[in-house]
Amino acid sequence: MNQMNAMMLVRIHDLNKTEAPLVPQTVPIPTPGDHEILIRVAACGVCHTELDEIEGRTPPPRLPVIPGHQVVGRVQGSGTGAVQFPTGQRVGVAWINRTCGCCEFCLEERENLCPEFVATGRDVHGGYAQYMTVNEAFAYPIPDRFSDAQAAPLLCAGAIGYRSMVLCNLQDGQRLGLTGFGASAHLVLKMVKHRFPDVRVYVFARSAGEQAFARALGAVWAGDTKDTAPQPLDRIIDTTPAWTPVVEALKNLKPGGRLVINAIRKEVADRDALLRLDYSSHLWHEKEIKSVANVARSDVSRFLELADRIPIIPEVETFSLEAANRALMELKNRRIRGAKVLVMDHR
Ligand SMILES: [Zn+2]
Ligand SMILES: [Zn+2]
Repeated sequence: MNQMNAMMLVRIHDLNKTEAPLVPQTVPIPTPGDHEILIRVAACGVCHTELDEIEGRTPPPRLPVIPGHQVVGRVQGSGTGAVQFPTGQRVGVAWINRTCGCCEFCLEERENLCPEFVATGRDVHGGYAQYMTVNEAFAYPIPDRFSDAQAAPLLCAGAIGYRSMVLCNLQDGQRLGLTGFGASAHLVLKMVKHRFPDVRVYVFARSAGEQAFARALGAVWAGDTKDTAPQPLDRIIDTTPAWTPVVEALKNLKPGGRLVINAIRKEVADRDALLRLDYSSHLWHEKEIKSVANVARSDVSRFLELADRIPIIPEVETFSLEAANRALMELKNRRIRGAKVLVMDHR
């Protein structure tokens, strides 16, 4: 048997017009090239970035492509020169698939900003499949503590949440806002509770379910995206795909505060919200805005180590590979509790 099942993105879609953007296909199992390993995929997380790819906000350069960039599996084979992982070892693959290794960003430990950044599941095939290959230098051992499904969201939602927290320059005792409360934000909340025990977390989320979930995980306050927090906030991380939460977050920032936007692309539906931007109340008093771009390998490995040590166990909801479209549509329609993960059936 040298064929595998995969869910393929064949063309860009308007998700208001279809509920099944990915097509189930049987394709050859890939052969690992030089320095590559072949991974038998066990689980792959579902990320909002897949929606950005499908809807063309960050389109794959070549189609069809297999999406998925939070991949957990076991090494099944190695190409020439791949010596790091024995067969059977459990490894993970993240969004960072390859970089040039020699530009100023790569040399400064900012490989996430490399102009030749190659993304797993967008620029090359990812983990919505039974097998995938990757350069061994871009794979990570997975700590034993986590199940396959639990480990998957650590690789993007967790790693980029970690990067967002670092870019916040959060100090213990401060007030942190999280606007949007999906996979990444819930991991940030768990991480912050342990690293900064005196940080108080305020969560802005549209649904009552997400607000209740945030309170259950230890947020001191949870309200609607448009609410005003009871106190002004030192730092806010935005994980929403929209613009209204950005404007509302700036309103809630205290003087000298910083907003970190953790999104690869923003949707256009509510772009008019930016016209409400008022310099004196939203930007003046030295408020800062910073975006987060991709992840470096050090973000992934540091976060995996931290998640193991604390520990941070993600709340996951599992789906079969064939149910990938349903998982994506639920994400689109903001039916979220924790992280959605595809679990592969190899029978
Ligand atoms: Zn992602
Ligand atoms: Zn580079």
